[in-house]
Amino acid sequence: MRVRTLAAVLLTGALALTACGKEGSPTDQGAPAGLFEVAKDVKVDGSPTFEKIKARGSLVVGVKEDQPGLGYKDPTTNKYSGFDIDMARLVSAKLGFDPEKIQFKTIQSAAREQALINGDVDYYVGTYTINAGRKEKVGFAGPYFVAGQDLLVKKDNTDITGPETLKGKKVCSVTGSTPIKKIRDNNYTEPQNILEFQGYSQCVTKLLDGEVDAVTTDDAILKGYAAAEEGKLKVVGKTFSSEPYGIGLPKEDKALRDKVNDILQASLDDGTWQKIYDGTLGKSGASAQKPTIDRY
Ligand code: GLU
Repeated sequence: MRVRTLAAVLLTGALALTACGKEGSPTDQGAPAGLFEVAKDVKVDGSPTFEKIKARGSLVVGVKEDQPGLGYKDPTTNKYSGFDIDMARLVSAKLGFDPEKIQFKTIQSAAREQALINGDVDYYVGTYTINAGRKEKVGFAGPYFVAGQDLLVKKDNTDITGPETLKGKKVCSVTGSTPIKKIRDNNYTEPQNILEFQGYSQCVTKLLDGEVDAVTTDDAILKGYAAAEEGKLKVVGKTFSSEPYGIGLPKEDKALRDKVNDILQASLDDGTWQKIYDGTLGKSGASAQKPTIDRY
């Protein structure tokens, strides 16, 4: 898989693409199917979202599609894979619905809150940092993973070693994300040197083309791109934030939030979380630290 190719496909909307995924690459990973055994007779009393899912008989789940190892849609097979995708499948199975029934919907960072508020998705799993501002609009189960903001640069770059070395450099990130806010709020580089797109793969294309000096977002995301680009890019490796990933839910649906927290806790306790991690993020070398669920 080449991120540059992926970005081109996303930009042009072209469907045909030569297959280039290979065994063991971060694009074709997944947890063993047995992990998603479908629970029976599930009840989530007082959850309007669960009622909606039951009436529909299927789920609509918001995800990313251009983040290898986390949320990735193979352009040739249209199959989704990654840690976030498997977490979405796990939740579906434990709610009593065959993960095959999930309709994945790509929602970029800037559109997540509104998608949940509108009810366009039942829940959202896509590198979605839990924070106070977002909690005013949506609910979060989790965290199910904790990442940290980092920098992706060309393999041979030596002058970018952390955020304080970004002055005068062109930095790319995504609209509506926490990392772009951090770069702006701390004046790590000048406003005219900040480029923003809807998805990180577009930034990676700019980096490969030499049009920007660094891409910034969570280390887990950047490691997936570095692994996919086979020796062309590297992650600086000095994180400068904490990004606890939550499963986004409609704000008022506390019953579903509690239920999803139960599902996540059980997966941490019974080894399922570990198996999902090993089959996805673990392959690109992202942190293996288990999170602590934060119920509210
Ligand atoms: N975790 C960060 C955020 O939620 C960055 C990754 C993303 O944009 O999804 O803003």
